[in-house]
Amino acid sequence: MDTVERLNNAQPASQDGYRRVRMLLINPRFRESFWSFRWSLERILPGKRAINPPLGLATLAALCPAHWDVTIVDENVETIPLAPQADIIGVCGMAAQFDRQEELLRYYRERGYYVVAGGSHASLCPERFEPLADSVVAGEAEYIWPTFCADFERGDPQPLYRETGVVKLTDSPPPRYDLLRLEQYTTVSLQFSRGCPYRCEFCDIIVMFGRRPRTKSPEQVGRELDLLRERGVHSVFFVDDNLIGNKKAAGALLEFLADYQRRHRYTFNFGTEVSINLAEDEALLELFRAANFTWVFIGIESADPESLKETRKTQNLRQDPLHAVRTIYRHGIDILAGFIVGFDNDTLDSFAAQSRFIEAAGIQVAMVGLLTALPHTPLYERLEREHRLLPAAGHGDNTKPWTNFVPARMSYEAMVDHYQRLYRALFTDAAIAGRIRNKMRELRQPNYTSEYRLRDRLTIAARFATHGLLAGGPLRVARFLGNLRTVHPRGWPQVLIDWIAGLSMADYVQRHFTRDDERTRRLAERAASALRRRWAQAMGAGHLHITTRLAQGRAELHLLLNGPMERAFYRGTGHRLRRLLRRSGATVTLALNSLCAEQTAYVEQLLDALAPYGTRVSVWIDEHVRTRLAVDSSTFHLMLSEPLADPRP
Ligand code: SF4
Repeated sequence: MDTVERLNNAQPASQDGYRRVRMLLINPRFRESFWSFRWSLERILPGKRAINPPLGLATLAALCPAHWDVTIVDENVETIPLAPQADIIGVCGMAAQFDRQEELLRYYRERGYYVVAGGSHASLCPERFEPLADSVVAGEAEYIWPTFCADFERGDPQPLYRETGVVKLTDSPPPRYDLLRLEQYTTVSLQFSRGCPYRCEFCDIIVMFGRRPRTKSPEQVGRELDLLRERGVHSVFFVDDNLIGNKKAAGALLEFLADYQRRHRYTFNFGTEVSINLAEDEALLELFRAANFTWVFIGIESADPESLKETRKTQNLRQDPLHAVRTIYRHGIDILAGFIVGFDNDTLDSFAAQSRFIEAAGIQVAMVGLLTALPHTPLYERLEREHRLLPAAGHGDNTKPWTNFVPARMSYEAMVDHYQRLYRALFTDAAIAGRIRNKMRELRQPNYTSEYRLRDRLTIAARFATHGLLAGGPLRVARFLGNLRTVHPRGWPQVLIDWIAGLSMADYVQRHFTRDDERTRRLAERAASALRRRWAQAMGAGHLHITTRLAQGRAELHLLLNGPMERAFYRGTGHRLRRLLRRSGATVTLALNSLCAEQTAYVEQLLDALAPYGTRVSVWIDEHVRTRLAVDSSTFHLMLSEPLADPRP
């Protein structure tokens, strides 16, 4: 179906004379990463399914004409509709979401929907999306999106809308928070500024938003906070890349926020991203505290001045980073931080130096990443000139044990190996407790008040005790109590938060950075053999195929169902696969080519058994039987294109 045909199929005019356009906006599911905090979401925090909602889509929805019907689906908290009633489907995404964004765009476009690609990755690399979407929206949406909407209504949408000018954030409307299921997120996003004055070589933010920070007015932010207050939100993340990029504007905002908080009984806990030079500005720090910012994320990157010079992060050179961290702590503000290894100046000794710094600084949420060259950044261009780029990997998540360039002073393999070792060392119980001790010595009593009701707080404490403390044995309990002993009771919530964050990251490290490839492969083989033996007859009849293979060092087990199976098969297989997933980092693919009505309930039971490990389970259902079974794509990876029938090793 071509574009004109699809547009003609759109809804007829409504009574007020406008053609009613039904728009579905989708935020694709993220692959699991450190940022998912999956363990805490699944085991500890009641009712939460993701960390932040898709603010960009809520802003885009606000830019649509008032007579458009807009729906937002965030696949990280709810399933996607496979046959939606929609005239346009917009799929956004960051680089880390590219695979799923591509899959969704292809799926809906093949089914005749008008699809639009957008988001930060499409803004940086629109050329990757032009073959995938009917229209690509590249750059900030405030001006170009209404143009697309008008063109669409006229029946003449263009293949590419690219913002080349400067967008004033005072023209940005309040996001349509009402279209999001805010209660499912731990923290709700809000934006004050875009752009950053610095020039870090690896940074794609300044490529996208420029080096002159642009801001909303404090009153605009106040109106957005009003909307969040009405919806009962307490925890707000200013997603600015550097909230203090324009210190004067930041100061005005903070004064406004401090007053707002006073008038509204300190409704909100705020967090944001800032550059480390915040520590140089006592007045600004006081304002952060007065406005109730309880945490900030800082790109510390490295404590080695030569690495910082190399990457042009000169703002981090102005004072000793440890001193800066402690200064911020003394204002009652917790620090989450990003670190990078793999600079040309770095050697294998740099990993130990990073570890020592992180420990001394007491930073629990330490996102250590391998240097990654994102397209169109100065780093990418330099490495390209030096012929050091590797073909793999613009994956956009730099906390994976692989990257896309050849390091200068160590081998690639040694770098990745030391990277994994560093993470394993950072997330032992002793290291978690040690960092808490070091932080709590410096952290002045934070203003933090829990956003959870008393009942939920008790639930969190009970779940932490069961799944976190007791599951770790008596030594972990002793370490936790040791942390509590050295801290005033008012600081105990902070200790609890840090242990939850630490164990969440430890869980990720254990599943993703533990070198148990051989063991996992053996376990997957053993599970496959047991299933083959038990269901030899069904395999002989061609109703069942079972294969295993090793992909990127990870064992995969594939089950393909071509015919009816007994009830016992689903129960026994669920039990077997669950055990495999619990004991190893293996992944499972379940492909259903046939499903008779009586079997639907059995498959549902099998999926229920696998749901706790859903991030490692892919499900394919043939189009012909898809209506019989609903698979929640926010729990499992719901495959939208057919897997290989026989994925041989
Ligand atoms: S301080 Fe942060 S946002 Fe600014 S240029 Fe450096 S990495 Fe980018």
